[in-house]
Amino acid sequence: MPWRFPAQGGQGYTTGIMAKHIKPPPEPPMPDADVDEFYARLAAVNPAPASELVYTDPYTLLVAVVLSAQATDVSVNRATERLFQVARTPAEMVALGEEGLRSHIRTIGLFNAKARNIIALSQALLDRHGGAVPADRAALEALPGVGRKSANVVLNVAFGQPTIAVDTHAFRVANRTGLAPGRTPREVEDRLMARTPDPWCRHAHHWLILHGRYVCKARRPECFRCVVRALCRYPAKTEAPAAGPAHPPDPARTS
Ligand code: SF4
Repeated sequence: MPWRFPAQGGQGYTTGIMAKHIKPPPEPPMPDADVDEFYARLAAVNPAPASELVYTDPYTLLVAVVLSAQATDVSVNRATERLFQVARTPAEMVALGEEGLRSHIRTIGLFNAKARNIIALSQALLDRHGGAVPADRAALEALPGVGRKSANVVLNVAFGQPTIAVDTHAFRVANRTGLAPGRTPREVEDRLMARTPDPWCRHAHHWLILHGRYVCKARRPECFRCVVRALCRYPAKTEAPAAGPAHPPDPARTS
C-alpha cells in the first residue's frame, strides 16, 4: 500500500495505533535544507512558546500533565484552579485522599484512574524522592500514570531539557508536513530528535503542538494562513473560505 499523509489526527497515542498500517517513506520528505527554516518561521510568530497548562512548580505541572491525558488543557485548568488551592504538594495531595481528589476532577475524562494514579505518584514522590519531582526520565516513567510523553513534557517545561513530547497535534504536524513522518508517536519523536537542530529543540514541542492546535487542525488545516505552507509537503492544502454575502439575503427579493 503506498504511503499517504494522514489526513486527520486522532487522539494521543491512539493516533499511532491507528496509523500503524501507514507505511512512511524511507526518508523524511521534507528536505534537510528546509528544516531550519521551518522552525525559524514558527519561532518568528511565537518566540517564547509556553504550556497552556496552569502550574506553579514541577509538582503542579506533573499533576496537570497527568490530568491532561485525553482531556483539553482548558478543562484541566478549570479543575486545578480549585484543586491547587487545597493541595499543591505531594503531602497535601496524599492528605486530601483519593475521594477528595475525585471531587475536584470529576469533570475530566478518566477521573477515577487519574485520581488513583495521582495519589499513588504523590506517595511515591514522598517515599522515593523526598517529595521532589525527579529531573530524570527513568524515575519519572516509574511513577504511576506517567508515560514517555508526560515525562518529556515535565523534563522540557520544568527542567529545560531538550525533549520533544509527541501528542496528537505534534504527531499530525510532523506527518503532514513531512518534517518527521512516522507510524507511532515514538517513531515520530525519534525522527524529530534526529532532525531538529539544537537551537530549536528546547521549544520544538510547543511550536508543533500549538501549530497543530490552532492552524494545522485535525479536520481542516488552515493552510491559507499557515506560515510554513511553502515548506510543507501536505498535498491537500486548503484555500481560504470564499467570503459569504455581505448581508443576509433580502426575503422580498428572493420570493
Ligand atoms: S500548510 Fe496546511 S497542512 Fe501544511 S502545516 Fe500548514 S496548515 Fe498544516
